[in-house]
Amino acid sequence: MMWKDKLMQLIGEENVIVKQAAVDRLSKDFYWYSPVLHEQLRDKVADCAVAPKTIEELKTIVQFAVENRIPLTPRGAGTGNYGQGVPLFGGIVLDLTRLNQIVEVNDTTVKVQAGVKMGILEKTLRKEEKELRIFPSTFMKSTVGGFLCGGSGGIGSIRWGNLWDGNVLEVTIITIEEEPRILNVSGEEMHDYIHNYGTTGILVEAVLPIEPKTEWSQFIVSFTTFQQAVLFCDELAHNEAITKRLLSVCEWPIPAHFQQLKKHLTEDKSIAMLEIAEPAVPLLHELIDKYSGEVSFTISSDKYHKGLKVSDFTWNHATLWAHKHGENITYLQARFDPQRVFEQMRLIREKFELEVQFHFEFMKNKGKVTSGSLPIVEYKSKERLYEIIDFFEENGVSVNDPHTYLLGSGGYNLRMKEIETLKKQNDPYDLLNKGKIPKDEKMELMN
Ligand code: FAD
Repeated sequence: MMWKDKLMQLIGEENVIVKQAAVDRLSKDFYWYSPVLHEQLRDKVADCAVAPKTIEELKTIVQFAVENRIPLTPRGAGTGNYGQGVPLFGGIVLDLTRLNQIVEVNDTTVKVQAGVKMGILEKTLRKEEKELRIFPSTFMKSTVGGFLCGGSGGIGSIRWGNLWDGNVLEVTIITIEEEPRILNVSGEEMHDYIHNYGTTGILVEAVLPIEPKTEWSQFIVSFTTFQQAVLFCDELAHNEAITKRLLSVCEWPIPAHFQQLKKHLTEDKSIAMLEIAEPAVPLLHELIDKYSGEVSFTISSDKYHKGLKVSDFTWNHATLWAHKHGENITYLQARFDPQRVFEQMRLIREKFELEVQFHFEFMKNKGKVTSGSLPIVEYKSKERLYEIIDFFEENGVSVNDPHTYLLGSGGYNLRMKEIETLKKQNDPYDLLNKGKIPKDEKMELMN
C-alpha cells in the first residue's frame, strides 16, 4: 500500500488533502518576490497536506511520518518571502492554521496555539484593553507560529525591537521522533527556535508579552526630498516623548504604486508612514513643521484597524505594491551605516539610478534605534542582482540576502551550530522542512 493510503486509513480520507490545486497552493509561499527563488522553487510541491485540529492529531501524523520517513513541512499562512515554507522533497505539508486557540490571556502575557492569526489575536486583545507588542504587516493573515519561525519584526518594532528582543517568552515544541517529545523552551535556548524556519521542531504554543492598549493615530507625511523625510524619521525615532508603533519611509516613486492612497499623495514627494500614540500627536505636528513636512493623510484612532491601514504600505507590503505594477520588481534587505547613509545612497544612485529605490523601516535592536532598508530593485538578471549586492557591500552597506531559502544564508546572525545540534536531537531522520539547513550535497541538488 502507498504511504498516502496508509495515512488516509490512519486519520480518515477526509482529513488528507490530495486535490492537486489545494496541495499546490499549500506548497507555496511568497517566494516569487524573488525571481531567483521563483526559478528554483516553482515546481516544488508536496504529495499531500493535512490540517490537524488538535495537538494529539498532530502527534499521530508526526509518528506516522517518522515510521515511514516522510518529509514534513510546517505551514502557517504561507506569507513567508524566502520560500522557507516550500517543501523541497515532497511529503506532507502540515497546515497548522486549525490549531487556533487563544489559550490564556493574563495581565502581561498571552498563551496561544501556533495557528492563531496575529490579526485575530491583536483584535481580541484590544477588546480586553490590551495589545500585542510586535506583529508583521501581514498580520491579517499570518500566524503566530509562522511569524516566530519565519519572520523578524514589524509594527511595534520601533518601540519593542524584534523577535530576539524579549518579545517571545516561551515556546512549546514537538520533536520529530518515534515518541515525539514536548519541549517547553524559554530563555537563551529559545533563540535557536526563532526564525529557524521550524527546522528543529514544530512550534505548537507560544507565550508572548502583551501591553496595555494604546490609541494609535495613523499619518502619512510628505516631504520634498527623501533626505528631509529620512532626517525627520531619524529624529522622530529617537524622540522618546513621542510614543510610536510604526515609522516607515519610502522615496518617490515607490509611493506611486500605492493605488489606494493615490488621491492623497503628490507626485515627486517622498513619504513617512506613521502610527503615533494619540497624546503625542501635538508633539508630532511640531516635528513635522520643523522638517517642512506636510500631512497628506490621517486615520484617526477610532478607525484603527478598521478598513484601510497605513501599515498596508510598509515593510514588505511596499514591495508587494511595486510588484503589482511590474513583474520585474524585486527587493533587498540592507543595513546602511547611520554615519554614511546619505553618502551611501548617493553612490548607489549614481551607479544604478532608479534601478534601486530606497525604503527604510525604523526599529529598535537590543534597545537602540536603528533602521533596516528594503530597497526596491528592478530585476534584470541574477548576475546584475548580485552586482548590486556586491556594490552595496563594497560601500559599507550590509545585505541580508532575501534570494535564498537556505537558513542562515540570509543574515539575522542565527546560531547555526546550535541549530544544527538541535536538529540532530529533535529531528534525527532529517524530515522536518528538509533541505533548508545548508549542507553541501543539498545545495548541489537544488542549484
Ligand atoms: P509561513 O510563511 O507559513 O511560515 C514561515 C516559516 O515558518 C516556514 O518556514 C514554515 O515552515 C515555518 N512554520 C510556520 N508555522 C510553523 C510552526 N507552527 N512550527 C514550526 N515552523 C513553522 N515579515 C516580518 O517579519 N515583518 C513584516 O512586516 C513582514 N511583512 C511582510 C509583508 C508582505 C506583503 C509579505 C508577503 C511578507 C511579509 N513578511 C514580514 C514575511 C511574513 O509575512 C511573516 O514573516 C509572517 O509572519 C509569516 O507568517 P506565516 O503564518 O505566513 O508563516
